[in-house]
Amino acid sequence: MTFPYDAIVIGTGQAGPPLARRLAAVGMKVAIIERALFGGTCVNTGCIPTKTMVANAYVAHMVRRASEFGVTVDGPAGVDMKRVKARKDEISGQSKEGLEASLKTLPNCTVYQGHARFESPHEVSVNGVMMTAGKIFINVGGRAAVPSIPGLDQVPYLTNSSMMHVDFLPKHLVILGGSYIGLEFAQMFRRFGSEVTVIEGGPRLIQREDEDVSAAILDILERERIQIRLGTNCTSVARRGEETIVSVDKGCEVRGSHFLLAVGRRPNTDDLGLDKAGVAVDSQGHILIDDQLRTNVPGIWALGDCNGKGGFTHTSYNDFEIVAANLLDHDPRKVSDRILTYALFIDPPLGRAGMTETQARQTGRKLLMGKRLMTKVGRTVEKGETLGFMKVLIDADSQRILGAAILGTGGDEAIHSILDVMYADKPYTLIQRAVHIHPTVSELIPTMLGELQPL
Ligand SMILES: Cc1cc2nc3c(=O)[nH]c(=O)nc-3n(C[C@H](O)[C@H](O)[C@H](O)COP(=O)(O)OP(=O)(O)OC[C@H]3O[C@@H](n4cnc5c(N)ncnc54)[C@H](O)[C@@H]3O)c2cc1C
Repeated sequence: MTFPYDAIVIGTGQAGPPLARRLAAVGMKVAIIERALFGGTCVNTGCIPTKTMVANAYVAHMVRRASEFGVTVDGPAGVDMKRVKARKDEISGQSKEGLEASLKTLPNCTVYQGHARFESPHEVSVNGVMMTAGKIFINVGGRAAVPSIPGLDQVPYLTNSSMMHVDFLPKHLVILGGSYIGLEFAQMFRRFGSEVTVIEGGPRLIQREDEDVSAAILDILERERIQIRLGTNCTSVARRGEETIVSVDKGCEVRGSHFLLAVGRRPNTDDLGLDKAGVAVDSQGHILIDDQLRTNVPGIWALGDCNGKGGFTHTSYNDFEIVAANLLDHDPRKVSDRILTYALFIDPPLGRAGMTETQARQTGRKLLMGKRLMTKVGRTVEKGETLGFMKVLIDADSQRILGAAILGTGGDEAIHSILDVMYADKPYTLIQRAVHIHPTVSELIPTMLGELQPL
């Protein structure tokens, strides 16, 4: 027997559940399928648990700095990893359970738990149950990429998912990959008390950022005595006694008690029966979509990390907004309206919007740039958190902001005042006419804009 639905949603990441709610609310009969944990990566193994643990690590760091602020703490700071994990589990668990309960009680919606596969363009099977719908929405997300390194199959290694079970302090955590995920774990575990080494094949950390941003991040992490090996390739790994031996270029070795892979993500599209549906993917397995998230097969959409257009919780949620706007609101929103923005949640964090300086230069436009060190922002001095800088790129002719980076305390929040003006498509001078709150990081953005220099 084949169960008929108006819509099938595969995956309960950041786009599937809100879309299921909107479709069910207009009376459509919806099936939503989840094979593992409700809420997917963000809720269970990504943003929420890691940012929770970043907060624990910040407390440990500030307790160690207590005397700088005249605060007396009896004895050295200790970190109870079981309680760190318990706090993370509670916060993540509340989100997961809340979502699961809300979907299971949603009128017009049936929840299936199991691995979904296409059997044809409009048929999906789960645990032997067949269902069909005219509209199918794929929100299957991604998982940690596991590179082919000689010996890797012989050693225990961690990914962002298995890190969630760590309730002890690794003596020495060796991290392969010096980008967002690797660096957040690096600083957090260093602050918990582990020795940490980051191995990065490229010449600098987070290579999609500008060189000055990468260099400042390197400085921030090295100040905390995180070992960073740049331009270093891992050639093989082996386990000897209690240690994982990571062989790198020129016959050198890095030894650690634990080994974390943080070398990118791959989409969960390899076991989805996409060939039976005729859905096209690119060479990395990302589902090909148009500007409204439609795949090449009519009636099938792909949202979130599996389409390769975002990679963040907010981009996956925006995918939902675009699909819902087009299908239900006669509002022709599109992916290309989106301005790239994200944060790196080390401490201090990096908030990013739009183009980097490198990308802005590549446009060939006449550019203006403003830059201000965080040492010249009163709020950071008051907080004793003066590392980093902010910079902004302006199109000199149109006065539009092309991009910005705020690496410093509050940078993940302050970037939004720039982002919103970019979305409004107004000149940067608008920010200079706004009165900002004192003392904040944001209040110095107009000052930086008053000191623009031609590039
Ligand atoms: C360590 C880490 C930290 C991160 N931090 C941030 C951050 O701070 N900010 C940010 O914006 N982003 C962050 N991200 C990225 C963010 O988590 C993802 O971009 C976000 O979760 C969007 O995912 P999604 O909606 O595409 O799907 P996902 O959340 O990955 O969910 C997909 C769901 O589909 C299910 N599924 C897969 N295949 C099937 C199938 N065949 N049948 C049934 N169900 C299936 C999966 O079990 C999963 O539950 C982080 C990621 C990681 C790994």
